[in-house]
Amino acid sequence: PVVTRFAPSPTGYLHIGGARTALFNWLYARHHGGTYLLRIEDTDRARSTEPAIAAIFDGLEWLGLAGDEPATFQFARSDRHAEVAHQLLETGHAYRCYLTQEELQARREAAQAERRTFRIDSEWRDADPASAPAGQPFVVRIKAPREGETVIDDEVQGRVTVSNAELDDFVLLRSDGTPTYMLAVVVDDHDMGVTHVIRGDDHLNNAFRQLAIIRAMGWPEPTYAHVPLIHGHDGAKLSKRHGALGVDAYRDELGVLPEAMFNYLLRLGWGHGDEEIISRDQAVEWFDIAHVGKSPSRFDLAKLLNLNGHYLREADDERLAALVAQRMTGPIDEALLARAMPVLKVRAKDLNELAANAAFLFAQRPLTIEDKAAALLTDEARGLLGQIKSRIAAQNDWTAESLEASLKAMAEELGLGLGKLAQPLRAALTGQTTSPGIFDVLVLLGRDESLARIAAQSL
Ligand code: GLU
Repeated sequence: PVVTRFAPSPTGYLHIGGARTALFNWLYARHHGGTYLLRIEDTDRARSTEPAIAAIFDGLEWLGLAGDEPATFQFARSDRHAEVAHQLLETGHAYRCYLTQEELQARREAAQAERRTFRIDSEWRDADPASAPAGQPFVVRIKAPREGETVIDDEVQGRVTVSNAELDDFVLLRSDGTPTYMLAVVVDDHDMGVTHVIRGDDHLNNAFRQLAIIRAMGWPEPTYAHVPLIHGHDGAKLSKRHGALGVDAYRDELGVLPEAMFNYLLRLGWGHGDEEIISRDQAVEWFDIAHVGKSPSRFDLAKLLNLNGHYLREADDERLAALVAQRMTGPIDEALLARAMPVLKVRAKDLNELAANAAFLFAQRPLTIEDKAAALLTDEARGLLGQIKSRIAAQNDWTAESLEASLKAMAEELGLGLGKLAQPLRAALTGQTTSPGIFDVLVLLGRDESLARIAAQSL
C-alpha cells in the first residue's frame, strides 16, 4: 500500500511550494488508495515556532490536505532516532568520531590550500573502539560507502548517480547526543511506513545520504520523486519579491477560494493534456508522477486569479455570501447577499472585489455618491429620475422583466436611449457608475429602498 508524507519544517508560514508538495503527496496517496501522512519537522528548536505549526495545519485544512492521521512531531522522537544510531554503531555501520572542530577546520583549510576537495576521512572510522579516549566528546558518524556509486531512479529526475567518493561520513548524533536532521528523516520515514518520498528537488542531494542510512539498516528503500521548485515570473527561485505569500495570505488578503488554489497548485508543474480547470475528483483520478514536469514552473498570479474567478462563478451562493460578509462592515443581510451573488459573481475575480461590488446593497441613506456618478446627476437627469420614480412606483409587480418593460416604454415615449435613464438611475441607486444590470439592482434593493434612493436624487 502506498504511504506518502508531507514533512514541513515549521520555521515560517506554509508557502506555495510547501502547499504544492503537500498536494502532490495527497493526490498520489488518494490515486493509489493509500495513506497520506503529516510530519512536523521541528528539530530545529531555535527556528520552529507554535504559530508556524498552527499556520501549517490551518493552511492544509483550508486546502483539504490535512493528514489522514494525527501528525507526527519529529522532535518528540529524538530517543528513537538515537536508538537507531546506536544500532548502527553496534552493527559496525557507524563509528564514534573524536575529531574536534578545530582539527576538522585545520584539515579543511589544508585541503583548500592544496586545492583538494575536502572529505572527512576520519581515522576513527576504522579505529579499534577500545582505543577511544575516555571521557572525550564524540559525534557518531555513518560509515558512508566509498567505492562505486549510488544510483537513484527518481520518478521525476530520472536516473541520478553520485560517485560514493563524494559522500562524506556525515554526522548521525551530535556530541550532545542529539540526532541530526538527516538521521531523523530516515528513521521517521521508515517507522511511518513511507513508500514514496515526494518533495522539492532541493532535497535530492540529501537522498543519497539518506539512502546510506537506509541501506546500512537494511530497510526497504522508498521511491523518490524530487519535484522541481517553483520559480517566479522572471525565472528566479520564487521568493517574496515575486509576490509569493503564505497560503493564508492568498485566502485572507487576496480573497482566493481553496478550490482555486488547489487547481492552481496542481497545474503548477503537473498537467493533463490541455486541461486547465480540473476538479478535485478528476485530479485524484488523473494524477501521476509521470506528468510532473522536469523543469521549474513559474508562478503566475494573474492565472491564479483567473482560476479564482472561474471558481467564484461555480461556487454556491450561500457559501459565497458568508465569505463575502466577513469582508464587509456594518449590518449585512446574508440572505440578500446570497440572492445578489448570481449577478455579482460574474464579474469578480476575488472575494474582496465581490465585497466591494456588493457594498451598495447595504449602503445607508443618504448614499455616498462617487464623483463620477455625481457628474451624471445633472438637473435634466434628476428630472428624469422623478419621472422614473412615479412610473415604477405605480407598478404592481416588482420584477426585472416588468421593470425593464416599463422603462423601455418610457424611454421610447421620450425618444431617449435606455442608457439616458439607466445611467442616472444607477448613480442614484448605487452611488456608482458600474453595477450589476440596473433591473437586477432594482429587484435586489426592493421597491421601498429603490424608491427612497431615487427620491433622494430626483427633482
Ligand atoms: N522538512 C523538509 C522541508 O521542509 C522536508 C524534508 C523531506 O521532505 O524529506 O524542506
